[in-house]
Amino acid sequence: MVLIVLLVFLFRRQRYTILPKQETIPRYFFQSIMIRADSFDSCSFFFVHLPPQKKDYPMKELDFHMHVLVKQEDELTAEELQLVDEARRATYRSYAPYSHFSVGAAVELADGTIVSGSNQENAAYPSGLCAERTAVFYANSRYPDQPIRRLCIAARDTEGKFLQRPISPCGACRQVLLEAEQRAKNAIEVLLYGTDGVYIIRSIKDLLPLSFDESFL
Ligand SMILES: [Zn+2]
Repeated sequence: MVLIVLLVFLFRRQRYTILPKQETIPRYFFQSIMIRADSFDSCSFFFVHLPPQKKDYPMKELDFHMHVLVKQEDELTAEELQLVDEARRATYRSYAPYSHFSVGAAVELADGTIVSGSNQENAAYPSGLCAERTAVFYANSRYPDQPIRRLCIAARDTEGKFLQRPISPCGACRQVLLEAEQRAKNAIEVLLYGTDGVYIIRSIKDLLPLSFDESFL
């Protein structure tokens, strides 16, 4: 019997301890009882498999705050208004025969150049592209040495009217914009246009908290 017990010890790779026989040991304390050795007359010990020891990590909360400045159109600076106008104009160049939802994006580069893009749809829906990515990819391919400083988005609904509520970029665009911001090594200011007001956000990173980026690779 002793030989059997020793073999169990030797061939199990988990941690064991030996406790005196107690019928009242609370079962929830243990993951499993491996052997009740007192079933053999000559021994009166439990061999108990203990759960792995856990480190004591105190619970905590993380808060992410986002700052949004809301301006009416007549409160915009001349540069901001110019970018809004470019984004609004770009909506008229969108190709949206399926959604009839026309989006325009305007990108201002560090040297003041403004590049615009619009949503480009396709009969194979996923093959289309949002206005923000169209504009940013074009800006980065046409002016690779010019960091993006500011971006504005505007949209018209299926009736052709500009949206009241400021439009916000989709998740995929936020991911692309985040990389553009990291590539620019500078915060990209975002203007989200709506007829009720313009949301001004200081950085793309604010739009994508807990984001995935190259630092994880
Ligand atoms: Zn998008």
